[in-house]
Amino acid sequence: MEKLTQQQLGHLKDLLNQRDQALRDDIRREVNLQDDYAQLASDIPDPGDSSFANLSVDLGNAAVNRDIAELRAIQTARLRMENGTYGECIDCGFDIPYERLQAQPMAERCAPCQDMYEKTHADAMKGSTL
Ligand SMILES: [Zn+2]
Repeated sequence: MEKLTQQQLGHLKDLLNQRDQALRDDIRREVNLQDDYAQLASDIPDPGDSSFANLSVDLGNAAVNRDIAELRAIQTARLRMENGTYGECIDCGFDIPYERLQAQPMAERCAPCQDMYEKTHADAMKGSTL
């Protein structure tokens, strides 16, 4: 089984960092439109902060909630990089192709497993912010 090279991992990490930054900018822009949220915007903690996970319930803003859900996915991907499970499908355990990770650096499943997951969780996905 072909593992990701350090160079490929580094590139994917860059993609995650860029996405992370873009999402944070988005969130700040979104919340600044609403005075009530201005304080929260300045309080957005680092993804490593445990209070980060609780943030979305306080914001009645779908766009922001979606951004935060994606930030959480980025955080999860980083943790997986740290513990060496990044790039493995969480369902079947096979390696996710590098091409797929480049398009979707937060991917936790290979394409067939993701299809299956979305089919079997169709109802749950509807109400999901992801
Ligand atoms: Zn799979």
